[in-house]
Amino acid sequence: MDQVGHFIGGKHVASTSGRSQDIMQPMDGSVRGQVALGTVAELRQAVENAKAAQPAWAATNPQRRVRVLMKFLDLVQRDYDELAELLAREHGKTIPDAKGDIQRGLEVVEVCIGAPHLMKGEFTDGAGPGIDVYSMRQPLGVVAGITPFNFPAMIPLWKIAPAIACGNAFILKPSERDPGVPMKIAELFIEAGLPAGILNVVNGDKEIVDAILDDRDIKAIGFVGSTPIAQYIYSRATANGKRAQCFGGAKNHMIIMPDADMDQTVDALIGAGYGSAGERCMAISVAVPVGKDTADRLMERLIPRVESLKVGPSTDPSADYGPLVTKQALDRVRGYVDAGVKEGAKLVVDGRDFKMQGYENGYYMGGCLFDEVTADMSIYKEEIFGPVLSVVRAANYEEALKLPNEHEYGNGVAIFTRDGDAARDFASRVQVGMVGINVPIPVPIAYYTFGGWKGSGFGDLNQHGSDAFRFYTKTKTVTSRWPSGVKDGAEFVIPTMN
Ligand code: NAD
Repeated sequence: MDQVGHFIGGKHVASTSGRSQDIMQPMDGSVRGQVALGTVAELRQAVENAKAAQPAWAATNPQRRVRVLMKFLDLVQRDYDELAELLAREHGKTIPDAKGDIQRGLEVVEVCIGAPHLMKGEFTDGAGPGIDVYSMRQPLGVVAGITPFNFPAMIPLWKIAPAIACGNAFILKPSERDPGVPMKIAELFIEAGLPAGILNVVNGDKEIVDAILDDRDIKAIGFVGSTPIAQYIYSRATANGKRAQCFGGAKNHMIIMPDADMDQTVDALIGAGYGSAGERCMAISVAVPVGKDTADRLMERLIPRVESLKVGPSTDPSADYGPLVTKQALDRVRGYVDAGVKEGAKLVVDGRDFKMQGYENGYYMGGCLFDEVTADMSIYKEEIFGPVLSVVRAANYEEALKLPNEHEYGNGVAIFTRDGDAARDFASRVQVGMVGINVPIPVPIAYYTFGGWKGSGFGDLNQHGSDAFRFYTKTKTVTSRWPSGVKDGAEFVIPTMN
């Protein structure tokens, strides 16, 4: 049984809270261990540690700092299989998908090796007589990240890597559902040479999150999770004077134009809709075929593909997807499918009663497909976060475009078409943060930034890419004057560069 406490000051520290939560193995419903639910005092211990370690780390030159990231990349390669298996067993996703989760995190670490360049300030020589102006980027101090269950390697790495590359100390509060990989990441960073105290992991629930939000020494908070919690964290963190970037839920549409290559579209849709059991913030959960003929051709190909999806345990490399993360998640998703039926949507593939032979206690669900979904139904308005795809038929392009534009969420969206003009118009007018053109899951590569609009993101800077270096540093601007020896006397008018 795994007993997961905290990782503070470079080592594992047991919790004394007396509160814990079971860590489940979704593929068979067994208990793998317990994770501690920490206290305010334990958070304080992590913060004190981070605060003590941070000035020396910030004073270490940036090239030396990023050598730790380089070494970390090597160590993850060494332990890749072990990490992916642990991730799959705690989360439920398949091992190949778990490897992708780690890889997308490592790509951001790779970009952060460019920190010495990305942190450079600006310089103006001769902004006035004898006057030079320059800016520098300095770390914030102690910063924190609160992350969701669905990418337990990728999202912590999206935050840890830029934060520490910029010279901050970082406190991670991972999801209590799959804390194993985040703890291993902390161990590997220490092995890579990161000074103790620069990366601490505290485990827990709302109690420790609230302690983070109210802690006077934590200067910035990066959050990823569901929208109500994102909104709560954003408002409490900013009310306490902290920087915050909080990313929330999603309802990602795929618009399918009449000229789309239908075989390619269906391949893309099945992977983006059902991969990782639909538990991705960039999963496609709404397909919008334009015109009746497009819709009929789509359904003709899609139905047999959904019916033949291979659901399996996380350790089966041939499975398309594995179980959902918890029994509660399974019940919630089934509840949405029941609601969709009641609301009058046409359930053309019903995976609610799927049972995995030999794994009867696992949290499995077969693929579900709804046709004739309308914008007033709860299955359209709300995030289901499961292997359920809704088809909303649109009469024309304008009607299709209106759907993502008027939706509460604005994380990702895709259009499938062979028409460059339609694709350009769509990319320009759609009110969503990340757009795919014949790409179903347009998660931007690591040197671009990731962030949704509307209810999918609170705050003004995105994750990774150049925004991460802005978020984790503060800008100081220096105006310097070295008088030439000719004294002008006192000046009472506001200085200008005229
Ligand atoms: P969640 O909101 O339940 O939990 C996220 C984090 O918040 C966890 O660390 C959790 O411990 C903490 N938390 C939960 N309830 C809290 C409360 N009442 N007060 C304080 N803290 C609380 O999200 P989840 O179920 O772990 O993850 C799935 C959600 O995350 C989905 O909505 C998904 O769309 C979203 N997500 C968004 C992105 C993105 O980039 N926009 C990426 C991945 C996941």
